[in-house]
Amino acid sequence: MVNRLKNKTAIVSGAAQGIGLAIATAFVDEGARVALVDIDGRRGREATSALALRGAEVCFVEADVADSTAVDTMVAQATERLGAPNVLINNAGIVVFRDPLDTTAEDWRHCFAVDLDGVWNCSRAVLPHLLRHGRGDIINIASVHASQIIPKCFPYPVAKHAVIGLTRALAIEYADRDIRVNAISPGYIGTEIVERIFASALDPDKLRAETNALHPVKRIGRPEEIAAAAVFLASDEARFLTAQNIVIDGGRSVVFHQ
Ligand code: NAD
Repeated sequence: MVNRLKNKTAIVSGAAQGIGLAIATAFVDEGARVALVDIDGRRGREATSALALRGAEVCFVEADVADSTAVDTMVAQATERLGAPNVLINNAGIVVFRDPLDTTAEDWRHCFAVDLDGVWNCSRAVLPHLLRHGRGDIINIASVHASQIIPKCFPYPVAKHAVIGLTRALAIEYADRDIRVNAISPGYIGTEIVERIFASALDPDKLRAETNALHPVKRIGRPEEIAAAAVFLASDEARFLTAQNIVIDGGRSVVFHQ
């Protein structure tokens, strides 16, 4: 399908690679203008140039989503270049996996600064534009860690649980002004975050095979499979859908026991 997002302007955080880049690419393919945002300026500019070469209306803004002042500047710059946003994808995120009592104050703050404050900083900066449009969408990329717990993965799931709380709260606050707020919770998706987890194992190939086997569909997911859901949520096909969390994990979270 093409042009399901024609006349929409989206801001995608964490868009230099992985799920964020797949979302930016899918949005461009559906006719949207896209501001790619990332803390990694080099990769962000490369990714944006590659999309621009395909004729897409895109721009790159380097920003740390944890820094609210930088986020306000980022939204102003994106608006100047592409027009006021009517879709925000809060995708930027980091993994902080620790044993609870080994978690330092810095670990805790860094995890919450990016994974939760980042979502709020961007939402707060974009919401006035959505309210002026009288319509809009916020899509938060949470995780299966927002509802499941894997030991020694602390405090990431705490922040991701809170992302669902923020999604539901903002959805209800703004529902009567036609602003929809939804979350997508990916399971294992083949991106650098997951490759780093595999690489840190004693036997990465064994861990990869075991991880594939954990899934009813016998494989992990692809970034494009998350992007397809984001396109749907931002499209006019989803106008009655708000305050929800769509879990995309190949059926894994439904299994109680092997
Ligand atoms: P990734 O590490 O491949 O990409 C994340 C991007 O975010 C990078 O380009 C990085 O530079 C950027 N980023 C990190 N901190 C930032 C900051 N402070 N400000 C701006 N940009 C920042 O990760 P991914 O696998 O594509 O994950 C994307 C999102 O999906 C994250 O929120 C992650 O928690 C979530 N998620 C991923 C998986 C998975 O299996 N890959 C599963 C569940 C949830």
